[in-house]
Amino acid sequence: MRRRQLLRLLACSLAAPAAVVRAGAPAFPRALPVPGGVARIRLGAAEDAPRAHLGAQRVLVVRDGGEWIALVGIALATKPGSKLRVEAQRADGKVARFAVAVGRKAYATQHLKVAPAQVELSPEDLARYERERAHMAEVLKTFTETPPAALAMLQPAPGTRSSSFGLRRYFNGQPRNPHSGMDIAAPEGTPVIAAGAGRVLDIGDYFFSGNQIVLDHGEGLLTLYAHLSGIDARVGEDVAAGEPIGKVGATGRATGPHLHFSVYLNTVAVDPALFLPA
Ligand SMILES: [Zn+2]
Repeated sequence: MRRRQLLRLLACSLAAPAAVVRAGAPAFPRALPVPGGVARIRLGAAEDAPRAHLGAQRVLVVRDGGEWIALVGIALATKPGSKLRVEAQRADGKVARFAVAVGRKAYATQHLKVAPAQVELSPEDLARYERERAHMAEVLKTFTETPPAALAMLQPAPGTRSSSFGLRRYFNGQPRNPHSGMDIAAPEGTPVIAAGAGRVLDIGDYFFSGNQIVLDHGEGLLTLYAHLSGIDARVGEDVAAGEPIGKVGATGRATGPHLHFSVYLNTVAVDPALFLPA
């Protein structure tokens, strides 16, 4: 008997209730210490940037006036009520420890009944998906020491943004991975621009994501653009914020043309809306 496994769909185009974002913080990203959000930790004043870690993973540290701030991505799988423990080592070797209480955020769920053939992968496709998943896990671990040029991002394509980040679908009662990004509705061929200045880190044609580009903005801040019909970038190339890098499409497993846009911090997907103007 052949082994089969349910699909974990990355693409989705269905609307979900609007994301709740804490108002009042002018700087990007908006702090939202919930699963899928971003925690802002004040590390205090120092001449040189402290090196901060969440577990083994380095986290983004930026200067804000006279002090340093750690911006920590919180994985969607984090339990509300748990504490994130971040360590920051200053240039003089002193280590400070911080704990952030993770709040609650309810993400939409969707239950669908579909024919099993629609959600199961052939052994060949499953093997391909597993290879791609391992490759992407390595890509997302990238941490380059150059800090991002900016934390506020440009919307990478014109169009209506879904608020489906974090949406969890169940196919025939089986849960999928939650939606790791924002979908932007746009016609096939619409130019896709870099959401911020960065370097092209990875380009590939992936089973679920289709033609995909990942940009490295520095210190573990990455953006990902999926389902592209065309790619106008090369691995290793530096791109400016707003520079065209590809075109909207429906490659991979997509229900129709749209841009899937994800933002990663310290390897975890966080809500792109926190980085974009309202
Ligand atoms: Zn998507």
